[in-house]
Amino acid sequence: MNDSDNPLTGAGLDTLAVRAGCHRSPEGEHSEALFLTSSYVFASAREAAERFSGEEPGNVYSRYTNPTVRAFEERIAAMEGAETAVATASGMSAILSTCMALLEVGDHILCSRSVFGTTTVLFTKYLQKFGVATTFVDPTDYDQWEAGFQHNTKLVFVETPSNPLCDLVDIRRLADITHAHGAQLIVDNCFCTPALQRPIEFGADLIIHSATKYIDGQGRCLGGVVAGPKETIDEVLAFVRSAGPTLSAFNAWVFLKGLETLSLRMDAHSRNALTLAQWLVKQPQVEKVFYAGLPDHPGHDMAQKQQSAFGGVLSFRVKGGQEEAWRVIDSTRILSLTANLGDAKSTIVHPATTTHGRLTPEQREQAGISDNLIRIAVGLEDVEDIKKDLERGLKQL
Ligand SMILES: *Cc1c(COP(=O)(O)O)cnc(C)c1O
Repeated sequence: MNDSDNPLTGAGLDTLAVRAGCHRSPEGEHSEALFLTSSYVFASAREAAERFSGEEPGNVYSRYTNPTVRAFEERIAAMEGAETAVATASGMSAILSTCMALLEVGDHILCSRSVFGTTTVLFTKYLQKFGVATTFVDPTDYDQWEAGFQHNTKLVFVETPSNPLCDLVDIRRLADITHAHGAQLIVDNCFCTPALQRPIEFGADLIIHSATKYIDGQGRCLGGVVAGPKETIDEVLAFVRSAGPTLSAFNAWVFLKGLETLSLRMDAHSRNALTLAQWLVKQPQVEKVFYAGLPDHPGHDMAQKQQSAFGGVLSFRVKGGQEEAWRVIDSTRILSLTANLGDAKSTIVHPATTTHGRLTPEQREQAGISDNLIRIAVGLEDVEDIKKDLERGLKQL
């Protein structure tokens, strides 16, 4: 099929979110079929031989290919503007598989210091054991990025906006720096999703997602995906097939359904978060609010350049310390006290003692994770009810 035969050529993001990757079976199902099967039956010994050798395309075993998983990969690739994608069992296995496929002993990773905590653990504790070193830099300091490169730097890894302080990184600028050093830029696009930000348009090489978050959108399944050029993704795919961190067909099917409403949900999350941030700024018990939708946030202009909305995660400092922050958290009756995010249900967490609890006090201080900081992943409830839930605790301070 050439491009002019594909009815989705040039289609908008919302159309791709609903339609990309749909290949109906002979039953003519309208909703994507769930192929819950580990293996596939061949019509003849010859066909089996040809499928195994790769002479004839087709399914052999679901660690290699599964039609439901493939549909999810095609849809994500289309939405990110990538050539192709490979799905994995979790966001972490997407990151691990990419590193295993693209790095070897003696290589170096240059990484934002404001990345998901487990990513830091993976790079420092595990990749280090296999001779891959990582340097962490302040993501908003481009001199630090420049200075961090070594002759053996292969991958640059960043999240934007960062968690929990919403620091923005200029993807175009970092991509240019990365390419000048002959390395590849990986963007963990979990917080924005392709509904709000498509880093490949700004020069990123690979996109990683924890599909567990907004892509699922209702906190049900774990999954991940890596999107990028076919040549690179084929390497990652080869690792996934050999090592087995394969996405289950059921989870892929849930994510396909999640993608159909992704942009509606991201708009609603962003709208609620902005309203809440603007309200929090006015509360006398609140010291500072971190949300790129606020005009005085240092990433405000950058966010408007590379994102179509500001996203659903914000954080704020209450006046006082850990005791005051915990009091606000413990006074909520609607918000869920959990570290997960990207759910229809709003979540609240104390980063210093949970998500960032493994950092030393100095590392926390450097990263701005103070004891009075609270993070909220704003859900889809009526925002007035979220305000009331927070007001109860704030009024006690
Ligand atoms: C949750 C998360 C991950 C890890 O994803 P899992 O699906 O939990 O393995 C990676 N990056 C970011 C930004 C995340 O929020």
